[in-house]
Amino acid sequence: MFDEVLRELRRLDGPQKITVSVPSDVEGYFDRECPSSECRAGFRVREDDWRDKVRDEEVFCPLCGHSADSQQWLTQEQAEHVKKAALALSFAKTGPARLMDVRARLRGSRRWRLLRARSPRRPAPALPTRPAER
Ligand SMILES: [Zn+2]
Repeated sequence: MFDEVLRELRRLDGPQKITVSVPSDVEGYFDRECPSSECRAGFRVREDDWRDKVRDEEVFCPLCGHSADSQQWLTQEQAEHVKKAALALSFAKTGPARLMDVRARLRGSRRWRLLRARSPRRPAPALPTRPAER
């Protein structure tokens, strides 16, 4: 039943890069959190300083000195926001495949014939066709 979804997920297999913006406050600051499990200190930094002055490869915690690359300093709330955005993107990317699977499952079934019979003036719903194999 999930052939198309599985095919799409295999196509998407491997790291996918997405850009999720973390909004700053009205003064241009945003929250960061030390990724060290012993520290987890929160601090605020100016967005332009983080973008222009902080090295992507290595950021130091102002409290404990822990170092990690600049992608590791999300607060729990920001990390949840990024996770939701990534899930929404993967849901959107597998949407056409999910529709094709539903159509394949319904095609020829009693339910599909009933759906078509109930709307005689309208053509069958236009669902995406299977993309050409690469
Ligand atoms: Zn720290």
